[in-house]
Amino acid sequence: MHGSSLGSEFRDGVISVVTEAGGIVVVCLEGEFDLANAPALADQIERAYKDGTGLIIDLSDATFIDSTVIHVLISASKVGTAAGKPVVLQVAPSTNVERAIEVVGLERVVPAAPDRQQARQLIEERRGALEARRDGGADDRLAAHHAVRTAANSYIFDAATQSIGHDMSWEFFCECGDPNCRARIELTVHGYERIRKSRRPILARGHQQDQKVRSRALRDDARALLVQAQHQSRRAKKNVDRDEPHSTP
Ligand SMILES: [Zn+2]
Repeated sequence: MHGSSLGSEFRDGVISVVTEAGGIVVVCLEGEFDLANAPALADQIERAYKDGTGLIIDLSDATFIDSTVIHVLISASKVGTAAGKPVVLQVAPSTNVERAIEVVGLERVVPAAPDRQQARQLIEERRGALEARRDGGADDRLAAHHAVRTAANSYIFDAATQSIGHDMSWEFFCECGDPNCRARIELTVHGYERIRKSRRPILARGHQQDQKVRSRALRDDARALLVQAQHQSRRAKKNVDRDEPHSTP
């Protein structure tokens, strides 16, 4: 049924796929995405970047994504990283989707940009970084393991926020990065949000985040801050140049 690579219609969400200059494939999501259409989305993404040199998943027109979609985005990034094809999210600022992504800390795993131009720029930067650590297989596996834990925690958080008692404690996974760690941490919804907002990992007592996981998280944070700073300076410049004619980027 979904034979066309140009577009597929789902119950609540619409996906369209375009190929841009340099072979970057853009998958645009419009509307709501959840358990019902996440598998079809995964399918579409996989097909889309087989031909591409990098993938931008444009969530600007997505109005809702749940944790199953977040899993799809993480695994898309994992597959892309392994194949040397960077995956970047395009997320409009101050939207429900941006908030959902921020709360689960997704941008620590899959880099995000506020517009298409910066998303393309991020793809180029990531490409360089991927080539530089071609031999970092163990590093990637560790990060993938960490990503799965973080996604699992986001799933628990979803369930917790849908429950009635926000004062209740929920068991979250330790994010120390040790593949053998089975520790759980009891947190309330507010406790979880507080940790995510401060960009700290969720850790069991006495556990420390693995150095490689930590340095990667810091690197991604630094990159996100850089993009943010560039965005702000561009906006400031735009305000200064407001009355002067200038070409679109
Ligand atoms: Zn642990």
